[in-house]
Amino acid sequence: MTDPLEFLGDALVELREQGLYTTIRQIAGPQGAELEIDGRRVLNFCSNNYLGLANDPRLVAAARKALDQHGVGPGAVRTIAGTMAIHTELERRLAAFKGVEATISLQSGFVANLGTIPALVGEGDAVVSDALNHASIVDGVRLCKATRYVYQHADADHLDTVLGEARSKGANRILVITDGVFSMDGDIAPLDRIVDVAERRDAIVMVDDAHGEGVLGSGGRGIVDHFGLHGRVHIEVGTMSKAFGVMGGYVAGPAVLVDWLRQRARPFLFSSAVTPADAAACIAAVDVMEESTSLVDRLWANAERFRSGMADLGFDTGHTQTPITPVILGDEALAQQFSRRLFDDEAVFAQAIAYPTVPRGTARIRAMVSAAHSDADLDRCVEAFATVGRSLGVV
Ligand code: PMP
Repeated sequence: MTDPLEFLGDALVELREQGLYTTIRQIAGPQGAELEIDGRRVLNFCSNNYLGLANDPRLVAAARKALDQHGVGPGAVRTIAGTMAIHTELERRLAAFKGVEATISLQSGFVANLGTIPALVGEGDAVVSDALNHASIVDGVRLCKATRYVYQHADADHLDTVLGEARSKGANRILVITDGVFSMDGDIAPLDRIVDVAERRDAIVMVDDAHGEGVLGSGGRGIVDHFGLHGRVHIEVGTMSKAFGVMGGYVAGPAVLVDWLRQRARPFLFSSAVTPADAAACIAAVDVMEESTSLVDRLWANAERFRSGMADLGFDTGHTQTPITPVILGDEALAQQFSRRLFDDEAVFAQAIAYPTVPRGTARIRAMVSAAHSDADLDRCVEAFATVGRSLGVV
């Protein structure tokens, strides 16, 4: 008898041969500027823990208190088992923070995209999506029956052309979707121009602010605040797994949108909520961000120090505008080797990213800067890149 899963073994061998096999490192202890991996302390330049909140004592204390007050689990789907007060409280706090009428919290940012898109458009409608949008948007679009159009990355003129095409083909509703910050390059979507074009074409605008949350805008209120577009972007998707330091996703916008998603977003109707401890930690993250902008300010100062250090050495950091710092190396095997050398020789954990996450031939190390890094951490990382880069002939 042949093994019906034999093809998987072959596919894995192929991945290894192409330098595309991802090894997942195991971390002991919490997230922070440093991590313990394989018994060694290494500098962490991988996580999306932008503000260093993932192990912040205020969030940990809030989660602990919620465990005592609310237990560990939400019981079941909220529409069936009732919603716990702490989830409603989180939604209220998020709405106030974002300056919108309402929010709905979901299990993750990925799920928020999967749930929102098919709830808004279907047969006879059109979705118009940036060419480099996140996988969760791509999958959300696949789940709906609307006609799919793609516009060139961050190109509002091309968006206008594509919207014209969709309209001329008789699309009913049109939904324009873009990432706010593109996670592999760190560039910011031209949301002001996208909104102008969409308004002229009578389209709905949705932005995935996963990497803008806690990073862009006043005190980290996100991309809509960054561009001063309050009231002109219909749907903001957010995640609490990055700057918030916890877990969970949400959708922010007008009350009517949130009311509709509570009736029709399938992950809300068919999957349980995050735990009460998660929700409490997220509320504490909002408290921290509302109290002071110091972490957001520190994040940006760190990003500038790191990026300019890398650029001075001659590394190609692409066209990032945010703390996401891609170090573009091109070749997949070189990126893997570079990352391994950083880890083994320099005690710096910065993961190589290759196809299918980024296009073939644009493999890179994506260095993620955090407010948790000290100046000494940043300088040591730059020095480590210089040492490995010189020995591999990259700079
Ligand atoms: N959207 C974007 C742009 C992301 O980068 C990510 C996380 N990689 C997500 C959504 C998903 O967020 P979460 O981890 O909360 O599922």
